[in-house]
Amino acid sequence: QNTSKVALVTGGTRGIGFETVRQLAQAGVHTLLAGRDRSRAVEAALKLQGDGLPVEAIALDVTDTASIAAAVQEVDRKFGRLDILVNNAGIIVEDKTLAPSRQSVAAWRETFQTNVFAVVETTQAFLPLLRKSPAGRIVNVSSILGSLTLHTQPGSPIYDFKSIPAYNASKSAINSYSVHLAYELRDTPIKVNAVHPGYVKTDMNAGEGEIDVPTGARTSVQMALIDADGPSGGFVYLGETLPW
Ligand code: NDP
Repeated sequence: QNTSKVALVTGGTRGIGFETVRQLAQAGVHTLLAGRDRSRAVEAALKLQGDGLPVEAIALDVTDTASIAAAVQEVDRKFGRLDILVNNAGIIVEDKTLAPSRQSVAAWRETFQTNVFAVVETTQAFLPLLRKSPAGRIVNVSSILGSLTLHTQPGSPIYDFKSIPAYNASKSAINSYSVHLAYELRDTPIKVNAVHPGYVKTDMNAGEGEIDVPTGARTSVQMALIDADGPSGGFVYLGETLPW
């Protein structure tokens, strides 16, 4: 049923992104594994192609306007549309041992460059191709750490988790962007949702996460594959709605 769909996953070279590519391809979606380094994207794609999955590598550094434009051109030339965009690439560059007030402005800028501005730019660039899909889906990989409600709620698991303010704010910003975009696109077939993958064992937390990577990719895949009755403008984790 998903055979003719085309998806693109940013930051597909490792972690949750790589597993999201695998699961989308296993669902029959022709999936473009996007990586900022072409050779590493090709290498990662080869592993999945070796299992017979419909995966293809594509070069895409989400912080590079020319790279985004080239990727859009390549998708347009090969497929003429995009059905699913998963904005998964993300970084943490702050020093977790520092208090919020001591994080460098350089770290704030770098974080917002990748986690926010790159998502906006990538999404804007692919939107014309998503509009050509009969059922476009945009998944913005956010984090529970972007939830202002939970940060301010005594007893919540992230009440005292404030050591990386730029990262947390970047995810709050992407949640806000998702809401605006979902509203703008409400009368189109395109659905936009923000997801929390869970606290997943990846390089990002040096393997300290609590859940495995296959479970961590599940919410992105679920929201990528929702049908016309599915939500738009949501913030979810494994089918559960999270507070903004
Ligand atoms: P990893 O650090 O394991 O992987 C990050 C991926 O992003 C890599 O593929 C990396 O590519 C890519 N990336 C970074 N910068 C760029 C760029 N400029 N252009 C293209 N790709 C880039 O992270 P995770 O898999 O853990 O995280 C994936 C997403 O999930 C992120 O958005 C993260 O914020 C979010 N998240 C993760 C949680 C967790 O517990 N792990 C919890 C909540 C949210 P490269 O290989 O080239 O470095």
